[in-house]
Amino acid sequence: MEWEIVMGLEVHVELATKTKIFCACTTEFGGAPNTHCCPVCTGMPGTLPVLNRQVVEYAVRAGLALNCGINRYNKFDRKNYFYPDLPKAYQISQLYLPFAHDGRVDLKTKSGRDVSIRIHEIHMEEDAGKLVHSLFGDTTYPDYNRCGVPLIEIVSEPDFRETEEVIAYLNKLKSTFEYLGISDCKMEEGSMRADVNLSVRPKGAAEFGTRTEMKNINSLKAIERAIAYESKRQIALIEAGERVVQETRRWDENKEKTFAMRSKENAQDYRYFPEPDIPPVSITDEEIAHYIEICPEFADAKADRYVAELGLAREDAQIIAGSKYLAKLFEETNAAVNDPAEVRYWMMTQIMYFMNERGVQPEKITLDPAQFAKFIEIVKAGRINRQIGKQVFEAMFFAEGAFDVEQYIKEHDLEQVDDKSLIEETVAAVIAANPKAVEQYRSGQTKITGFFVGQTMKQLKGKANPATVNAVLAEALKKL
Ligand code: ADP
Ligand code: MG
Ligand code: ZN
Repeated sequence: MEWEIVMGLEVHVELATKTKIFCACTTEFGGAPNTHCCPVCTGMPGTLPVLNRQVVEYAVRAGLALNCGINRYNKFDRKNYFYPDLPKAYQISQLYLPFAHDGRVDLKTKSGRDVSIRIHEIHMEEDAGKLVHSLFGDTTYPDYNRCGVPLIEIVSEPDFRETEEVIAYLNKLKSTFEYLGISDCKMEEGSMRADVNLSVRPKGAAEFGTRTEMKNINSLKAIERAIAYESKRQIALIEAGERVVQETRRWDENKEKTFAMRSKENAQDYRYFPEPDIPPVSITDEEIAHYIEICPEFADAKADRYVAELGLAREDAQIIAGSKYLAKLFEETNAAVNDPAEVRYWMMTQIMYFMNERGVQPEKITLDPAQFAKFIEIVKAGRINRQIGKQVFEAMFFAEGAFDVEQYIKEHDLEQVDDKSLIEETVAAVIAANPKAVEQYRSGQTKITGFFVGQTMKQLKGKANPATVNAVLAEALKKL
């Protein structure tokens, strides 16, 4: 039988406000345990929360970016439960009247399909603390620094069918919130966390199957593996005549398995009731009009523009525009050199390589667009060849502090050698020193030409103009 996977996502995103949602404590990540908290966020009796208006602004701007309707009047509710990371024993959230509803996210997946995911709702809430489990003995230490950090929870409809849709969706949320400047969406640091609800059904069936929920998977790779594992587990259960139990499961990245955590709780278990300490939130039409006006250009519009106006290939445009930081580097460098193809070239080869092979995060890139532009001018003027260019680019990219590309080239004596007589002499010497290769060339093995190029380049420390080397060598070989 052919099976179809059905998934819905609940994504928590920490908002990058300076202070927490209901008090003036810092939201900064890390810090010594229990140093970023006060009586309000640790839930001391008699304290009162005061809503941080910046949280509402960031939340509403996120909602608008995801094409949601915004409830001009919305409210907070108490979600009651006891857990050691939640000292108040309730979380302030929104259940009955969340601030945003009925949105839509349009995606292009890696394989190029267009997919639309509906957003059920988005609500504001506060984060809980963290529990640090001792490596020795059975002690657990609560750290309340994260208590009261503002979150939005984005609840999708069960519209995902393929893993690549989930990945494209999370990438799009990250990119959109980065452009808005409302969150850094770092899965490794927990500022974006995805819960994946998953069920399976025979392909073509009208009804959904019973779902399980996988909580807080902390990387895209782990999400891919968790979906693969959990869908297989459910299919095997059903094929063996058993039933899927609706429950929350934990993905164990080391064991590469999911484990049952608890059977699915529902809203009743939380004894939700309206939060009495916070007045309802109202959002005016003027505010919304203002947020729409200050909305930045997002990845898709940028990518379209890079294709239409700057001649980039769609795939490259999408990758560069997908990150606020890559797009900024691209645009600022191009503004200085006006050669999008060349800027693209160095970004899509060298920078992609550093990102993929060395784990460079786009937001950590410190490359100065002015130096990058200068570098491109130097390459285009033929003052260094492209091979040496890679070396210079790498030094420039990883430089700590100021970097002067002119000075670097001078100091390392990297200027291109285009002295024809020197190249002729070198070619002659290489031919004289390699009688065996000459023999092979004479017997018709023209591939050996590459060897002569390589040797000549090596003699000239990689700095020769490759075009001149090729021309001189072709002449010399003809005479053999
Ligand atoms: P609850 O109220 O129990 O949290 P919701 O209806 O709010 O349940 O759904 C929670 C998440 O699970 C949503 O993202 C939704 O899209 C997803 N979901 C609901 N039903 C299914 C299903 N049968 N298969 C996969 N995902 C589902
Ligand atoms: Mg839910
Ligand atoms: Zn506080």
